[in-house]
Amino acid sequence: MTKNGRSLLEIILIDYRWVFVCFFLLPISFLYNFFYYARNVIVFRLNTAPKKHDNKVKNIQRQVQEWRKSGMKTKMCTARPGWQMMSFRRPLYKNYFTQIDCNLIDILEVDVSRRVIRVEPMVNMGQISATLAKLGWTIAIVPELDDLTVGGLVMGTGIESSSHLYGLFQHICVSYELVLADGSAIKCSKDENSELFYAVPWSYGTLGFLTAVEIKIIPASKYIRLKYEPVRGLKSLCQQFDKAASNKNNCFVEALQFSTDEAVIMTGVKVNDDEVEHNKV
Ligand SMILES: Cc1cc2nc3c(=O)[nH]c(=O)nc-3n(C[C@H](O)[C@H](O)[C@H](O)COP(=O)(O)OP(=O)(O)OC[C@H]3O[C@@H](n4cnc5c(N)ncnc54)[C@H](O)[C@@H]3O)c2cc1C
Repeated sequence: MTKNGRSLLEIILIDYRWVFVCFFLLPISFLYNFFYYARNVIVFRLNTAPKKHDNKVKNIQRQVQEWRKSGMKTKMCTARPGWQMMSFRRPLYKNYFTQIDCNLIDILEVDVSRRVIRVEPMVNMGQISATLAKLGWTIAIVPELDDLTVGGLVMGTGIESSSHLYGLFQHICVSYELVLADGSAIKCSKDENSELFYAVPWSYGTLGFLTAVEIKIIPASKYIRLKYEPVRGLKSLCQQFDKAASNKNNCFVEALQFSTDEAVIMTGVKVNDDEVEHNKV
């Protein structure tokens, strides 16, 4: 024990956390993100993901069949490690479940004629934005953290500041492909296996392993004009927020509350290039 009864390790971890963050965590995060960004660009350009996808699904089916043959003594879960998840919860259950290696991290197809993007479930928001923005498209709901995955947003819940227009993340999804607990691979949409299609969102992986998702795309605008409106008082905040969300001209609506009495409502509208030039003059 040293200063104030704290051990040396506690002092280093608490008082000198910045050393670990600045010299280890930030550089390693930068390299990790750069590697995945570059990998995504190359895989998408070479279009190798669709061919590999079928084999990856077969690999999941094989693991599920092995679990069945071994007597199904434990439950199954994805082998995605806890440090990759957004949740602060440590997924201790993974220690005693049968982990199924999914490795489904690629964008499979952008079909502009059908206005859909088909992706594997571990594709994240940053990957989708970086790929679609270059093509002039976006998905209608982009939950704001780059690391949120399609699988997590479908099986958990996804929402963002355009949800007053488009609903929850599941409402912009056109179809899901899954491997079920009997090892079969199945596709569902509102016209095909529709009961499963409506049951998948919020099911937290209990109905099967998600292997691909088709999501609607919409044209992207290069600029968003933001308006910040300070509000005072909870009642006023609720009324003003409601009013902003009811106005369908607002493409994005979000509120940030600083205290019980102070908040700011942010609204955003899409702006064309020519309008931006006009403002500059
Ligand atoms: C700081 C912070 C900010 C956030 N901001 C937002 C936000 O702006 N908008 C928003 O909508 N949400 C937000 N969230 C919540 C987020 O939507 C959820 O945590 C969501 O579950 C995404 O997490 P994930 O991609 O890490 O998925 P995970 O947590 O890994 O997965 C969520 C669930 O889906 C299941 N699952 C995942 N992949 C598969 C698969 N392939 N097959 C079967 N089951 C699967 C998992 O088993 C788990 O039950 C935020 C969370 C945090 C911590």
